[in-house]
Amino acid sequence: MKLTMLKPRVATLKASPVRTITPGSWRGDKTSTGRGYGYKWQQARARFLKAHPLCSYCQREGRITLATVVDHIEPHRGDERLFWDQGNWMALCASCHSSVKQREEAKGEGGIASPGRPTF
Ligand SMILES: [Zn+2]
Repeated sequence: MKLTMLKPRVATLKASPVRTITPGSWRGDKTSTGRGYGYKWQQARARFLKAHPLCSYCQREGRITLATVVDHIEPHRGDERLFWDQGNWMALCASCHSSVKQREEAKGEGGIASPGRPTF
């Protein structure tokens, strides 16, 4: 009797591999979620686009274009405060977004000059 009850337990112990020690790590933590572009960002982004449905750049030039991208005016470079600061967000259409990115890349790593740089 006792033996038959023990057996399945031993079997499950053997069957559960070591990976239980690191929960989450096997669940794709190294994807975009880990870099801040996770579910929370998707939600915030959707809300921002609802409030700012038009591309800011196109609007400036008198065009009415639906925005599909939320861009960071000042590149956040992993700075969470800058990342989540909605004052630093800008609704853009895909083509403006790619042209902004191209301009940033043309400027090189520097982007915006250092005065506004956050200090920790
Ligand atoms: Zn645009």
